[in-house]
Amino acid sequence: MPLYLVATPLGNLGDLTPRALEILRAAPVLAAEDTRTARRLFSAMNIPLAGRELLSYGDHNEAGMAARLVEHLKSGRDVALFSESGTPLISDPGFKVVRAALEAGIPVVPLPGPCAAVTALIASGLPVHAFSFHGFLPKKPGARGRLLAQLKDRPETLIFYESPQRVPKVWAELVEVFGADRPACLARELTKIHETFLRGTLRELEARVAGKDAVPLRGECTLLIAGRSSAELESDSAGE
Ligand code: SAM
Repeated sequence: MPLYLVATPLGNLGDLTPRALEILRAAPVLAAEDTRTARRLFSAMNIPLAGRELLSYGDHNEAGMAARLVEHLKSGRDVALFSESGTPLISDPGFKVVRAALEAGIPVVPLPGPCAAVTALIASGLPVHAFSFHGFLPKKPGARGRLLAQLKDRPETLIFYESPQRVPKVWAELVEVFGADRPACLARELTKIHETFLRGTLRELEARVAGKDAVPLRGECTLLIAGRSSAELESDSAGE
């Protein structure tokens, strides 16, 4: 009766692991963030749903759903929990379900697989030895400014999720806070036909994402910014 946390593809169905497929085929209870996306995935992968319970969990009902899923688990039924795409819980719901299962003494088994943050990082060309993930940037300018100011001098690569409509808007703030010369990368539509990586300094990329000649951004975007280098810190302290 474990709770399985199942990573699903970001776009390319070939990224569903054999182990994920096995659990999605067998679990009597399926907890999906979005049941429509789940049905599409199951139909594309030829996974029969008949005779199994497909439940929807999300920010709107996670506490109640956590209790319901724990009841299923306690009565001996395996639960496979998965989000719309990628790794559940990573900028997606599921945390409350995991907590509730652990509190009830139920084993929680992760099935690793696609995650946009790590997928973008490894091909970004930015340092990977240390990185931090910050999910979506706050929508409110004040909160966003405060977070960026806190991150400005961090030495590790910073990873953010952002909607394509908001990328041009936040770019000027990034240039202002991190400086025009900070290396960055915008990864778009990972694992899909239109997968694109824009690599360069924040200033070089500005023309491509936010200037008047910018290419319109569509699909899903992950944004990465190099950490502050020790050379930058040294040149700052030399000037003090
Ligand atoms: N749980 C997911 C994961 O493991 O990456 C993330 C879910 S979060 C709601 C969705 C955000 O992830 C998107 O807005 C985008 O920033 C990023 N993302 C998801 N799929 C992506 C893709 N194919 N290419 C680039 N970024 C992606």
